Amino acid sequence: MKYNRILLKISGEALMGEDCFGISPEMIQFVASEIKQVHSQGVQLGLVIGAGNIFRGMAGAASGMDRANADNMGMLATVMNALAMQDGLEQQLVPARVMSAIPMQTVCEPYIRRRALRHLEKGRVVIFAAGTGNPYFTTDTAAVLRALEINADVIMKATRVDGVYDRDPEKDPQAVRFDTLSYTRVLQENLRVMDAAGISLARDSNLPVFVFNMKKQGNIVRAAAGENIGTLITR
Ligand code: UDP
Repeated sequence: MKYNRILLKISGEALMGEDCFGISPEMIQFVASEIKQVHSQGVQLGLVIGAGNIFRGMAGAASGMDRANADNMGMLATVMNALAMQDGLEQQLVPARVMSAIPMQTVCEPYIRRRALRHLEKGRVVIFAAGTGNPYFTTDTAAVLRALEINADVIMKATRVDGVYDRDPEKDPQAVRFDTLSYTRVLQENLRVMDAAGISLARDSNLPVFVFNMKKQGNIVRAAAGENIGTLITR
């Protein structure tokens, strides 16, 4: 494997599968089995899961809610996704721990960086829930933050397409995929990789960002092995 410690970011929407809301048990099983493959190669894995399948703060604010209240709801929704993924991993006998940035001791562990590192060293998949614990942020930024905190070799962002394209590949079949990109180009051209706060945080610490398609079976292992199946963003 090229990478020994990976932070994998999965959007909430990826957990919906064919549904238009919520958590699909088949998708949880699929993602868990993909993670199991890479875990069995000895790779240490941290996970951040979004909540777009349940609730997004921006949507709440657009319908008149106070933004901070709405964002708190979004963060709580990520905990539900994290618990579902923990369950899916455990069903496949992959040890996993949810650590929440918003403490809720009766449900999961609070996020404590040193404890997270210990879990990783012991081969447990750590699922970082509740984003950064602060409103006005996203789980993309939370993923970069946690990747830096755990000294991950790379942050891998799972998307529906095979990386970053010059146009929307779902609308234009002529779209060309970039093998590599610089952080600055992503920011300047406003390429839809992750939000600008996340990309600039990655740029400041030179953390490689790999964008790939997790829907294809075996792609997490290929990505961990360093195969050219997506777009690598570096300096
Ligand atoms: N959120 C937040 N602070 C964070 C991370 C997330 O307030 O540090 C809230 C925010 O409302 C966001 C929601 O949680 O809309 C779900 O996260 P996100 O939209 O990033 O999920 P994804 O698009 O990846 O499914």
